[in-house]
Amino acid sequence: MGAALAAARNNARTLLIERAGFAGGIITAVGLPYFDGIADKKTGRIVVRGIPFELLVKMGRCRPDATSIRPHNPTIDSTERFKLLADQWLGAHGEMLRVLYHTQVCDVESSGGHITKVFAANKDGLVAIEPRHVIDCTGDGDVAAWSGAPVEKTQPLMPMTLHFRIGNVRQTRELRARAKTALIEAEKAGQLPMFYGPGIIFQFADDEAYVHAIRVPGDATDAADLTRAEMQGRRDAWAMFQTWKKNVPGFEDSYFVTCGPYIGVRETRRLAGRYVLTEDDIRSRRRFDDAIATGCWYMDRHPNRTTVGTANTGNGGYQPDPYDIPYGAIVARRVGNLLVAGRCHSATAAAASSTRVTVTAMALGQAAGTAAAMASKTRTSVAELNGVKLREELSAQGAGPFTET
Ligand SMILES: Cc1cc2nc3c(=O)[nH]c(=O)nc-3n(C[C@H](O)[C@H](O)[C@H](O)COP(=O)(O)OP(=O)(O)OC[C@H]3O[C@@H](n4cnc5c(N)ncnc54)[C@H](O)[C@@H]3O)c2cc1C
Repeated sequence: MGAALAAARNNARTLLIERAGFAGGIITAVGLPYFDGIADKKTGRIVVRGIPFELLVKMGRCRPDATSIRPHNPTIDSTERFKLLADQWLGAHGEMLRVLYHTQVCDVESSGGHITKVFAANKDGLVAIEPRHVIDCTGDGDVAAWSGAPVEKTQPLMPMTLHFRIGNVRQTRELRARAKTALIEAEKAGQLPMFYGPGIIFQFADDEAYVHAIRVPGDATDAADLTRAEMQGRRDAWAMFQTWKKNVPGFEDSYFVTCGPYIGVRETRRLAGRYVLTEDDIRSRRRFDDAIATGCWYMDRHPNRTTVGTANTGNGGYQPDPYDIPYGAIVARRVGNLLVAGRCHSATAAAASSTRVTVTAMALGQAAGTAAAMASKTRTSVAELNGVKLREELSAQGAGPFTET
């Protein structure tokens, strides 16, 4: 969304392709209402503006003139309303921005270091698109991998998580502790392979539990493994629900509301791009002249094959001060008309454990969309685009990296 909106705003004719029947990525596809990475944890200062900030304002979560926000990790009250907002906002750009939902990119054709065609499958059949520039925001680096741009995959990958909601639950003081005990028992009895937390959050309503607890190891770029993981996640969600309903006071009259629509994928391929952002860059707050976005989230790498009794992280990660992400971290090598934004941008596994969060992903998308439009205007390739000029353009549009005053 960030990439498509930015490209269209900058007068590039844009096509957004999305496999789901709605936009919004993990917020709507997994049901995750968090805008993490928008503000510095220590001060609450908003360090990412532009499209993610505008979305937060449009969702009524903060005022347009806000300079700080508490808590530093704001949430939105409805992922369904976010779908509607996405439709409206994407639809407001007329011919400049066309949207194809229910359309899965499935291959590319390249020649001379350029992507010449992107193939997508939808109800029209197999569709070929001839783009000037491509922005891969698949999370999995699908287009990058198929076009021959170097990518990497760190083993072991972080586990996947299916989020689910349980309705008609009464919140009691002991609820979480008892729910955890029930999961430990279920794991011992072989009804549950593993879990984390559980995070039981009364996020959307006082009588509805939003649950973070599933942990499924696997590789979401492998179709069979992704299918297995989705089934495992659903089985585990129901095992949790049933054990809580049977054993935990407060859940007696509860019912299963929904899960998904998709299992959440934390990690797969990442671009091995022109610049690979490192943990050291983040810790030392290395400054880049061609910085295009600011990261500020803690290093949050979930362990792969163990039950962990905390709700949101496996590693008690390092909390950095706001840091720069350079243009080179979204520029592909060997493919001149490809940018890669979102969680599959170019960073080491440790660095990406901070840069992967929602707001940082959107900010990288906005930078990529703006870059593609600038390159289109000047008939250059995104690979040749001057990152410092991009930074200036983003700044002129109220986006780009946070600069201390
Ligand atoms: C379970 C879980 C919990 C998390 N918790 C938090 C949290 O609390 N706070 C936080 O900030 N971050 C959290 N994250 C991380 C963060 O949400 C993601 O890393 C981030 O949203 C990634 O954004 P993205 O735009 O790169 O990818 P996504 O948001 O996943 O968007 C990718 C989009 O591309 C579409 N797509 C994929 N492949 C194709 C294809 N081939 N063709 C067409 N469309 C395709 C998908 O349907 C999706 O809409 C969590 C991640 C997971 C998995």
